[in-house]
Amino acid sequence: MTTTEPNRLLVLGGGTAGTMVANRLHRRLPGWQITVVDKSDIHDYQPGYLFLPFGTYTPAQVRRSRHAFIGDGVELVLGEIDRVDAEKQAVFLQDGRTLDYDYLVIATGTTPRPDQTPGMLGPEWHKSVGEFYTYDGAVALAEQLANWRGGRLVIHITELPFKCPVAPLEFTFLAHDFLVKRGLRDVTELVFVTPLDGAFTKPVAAKHLGTALAERSIDVETDFMIESVDQERRVITSYDEREIAYDQLVTIPLNMGADFVGRSGLGDELNYVPVDKHTMQSTEHATIFALGDAGNLPTSKAGSVAHFSVEVFVENFLELVSGRPMTHSFDGHANCFVESGGGKALLLDFNYDTEPLTGTFPLPRVGPMTLLKESRANHLGKLAFRHIYWNALLPGRPLGLPSDMTMAGKNVE
Ligand SMILES: Cc1cc2nc3c(=O)[nH]c(=O)nc-3n(C[C@H](O)[C@H](O)[C@H](O)COP(=O)(O)OP(=O)(O)OC[C@H]3O[C@@H](n4cnc5c(N)ncnc54)[C@H](O)[C@@H]3O)c2cc1C
Repeated sequence: MTTTEPNRLLVLGGGTAGTMVANRLHRRLPGWQITVVDKSDIHDYQPGYLFLPFGTYTPAQVRRSRHAFIGDGVELVLGEIDRVDAEKQAVFLQDGRTLDYDYLVIATGTTPRPDQTPGMLGPEWHKSVGEFYTYDGAVALAEQLANWRGGRLVIHITELPFKCPVAPLEFTFLAHDFLVKRGLRDVTELVFVTPLDGAFTKPVAAKHLGTALAERSIDVETDFMIESVDQERRVITSYDEREIAYDQLVTIPLNMGADFVGRSGLGDELNYVPVDKHTMQSTEHATIFALGDAGNLPTSKAGSVAHFSVEVFVENFLELVSGRPMTHSFDGHANCFVESGGGKALLLDFNYDTEPLTGTFPLPRVGPMTLLKESRANHLGKLAFRHIYWNALLPGRPLGLPSDMTMAGKNVE
């Protein structure tokens, strides 16, 4: 390859999607200069945050050094990204360094932004106003729950989209279980507050999950668009002036893409990069792709989506750089375990066109996992995923799961 041919791939963000894509392409594109930029050397297994407040995982089990997962031959640059100049094909870091690219992958994910809701940040942040979408928040919430003696425990979603849309439901089910085991369920009111008109976005899943909440006597407050938090009075207020009192609030703050995406003129109003939903290519710039939570794909923001879409992207990218049309198409496939407590979980499998259905996964009739139905096998699958994540997914080893959703094993009602 001559030096005039494009051979520089710059990956912004070394989380789930960025790490996978760099490791996979490094093996497939010898001679390419692949660079990953991230602001810190800490890589967290974010799905593990769910288990920290209940003491199921220790903090050490969800945290590793990023260096351990970026393969030899891929350069890891540590620094905060300030801006992308798409015309000049250059990225500026806050410390003054400039990185030029031929192709750019934006994989800087999405971040909880409590600063966007009046009153959410304040002296009670990470105390009576808790969250489990960051490492610090999940660790602080573990302490709050360890000291819990009863009252109103309110789990609250600010707005869609947010990553792992089932996580607040999982937290609610696990909280129920935790309180039952400690003899505190009878003295705790559990309330699930959502801006949606039901437990979940998709009708069949919403019905199943709504039933699971009702069976556990968990109150559901729907269509709640939060306006503010009053930390002194311990109430949240909606735009239609409903007030909900809490003793402990567990909130999912507004999620937003990285600020530099907005500053660079590459994002929508929430700093997500508009992309073609089948190729993840920027709708504005042919040399830019957004993978994982950073893009505006109309499917769940989830590690499973990052995984399946990276597989499609890698095959397309190999075609693109060899001058051929991109022939692979991402179908929006998402695969989400929903912990329901008692050592069980449900499993949702869906894509852009097909909502989660009942049945078995991955094999028809045999399973061993059950779709939209609680089972022990699903729970064990969820726990096993932490090992799969560190040892297979991040290094870019094949998992043997098709990136496209299949109808095999699904019941069409
Ligand atoms: C509580 C919780 C539970 C979850 N459970 C599940 C689950 O069960 N199943 C599932 O599939 N998914 C789950 N997820 C979602 C999953 O973790 C994310 O969807 C996935 O990590 C997205 O990958 P990503 O690469 O797009 O972003 P990330 O993995 O978040 O990586 C983004 C990277 O960009 C870096 N970055 C951002 N801005 C900058 C900047 N300006 N400069 C430099 N670097 C920057 C960050 O440091 C980070 O390393 C869960 C998430 C949470 C929070």
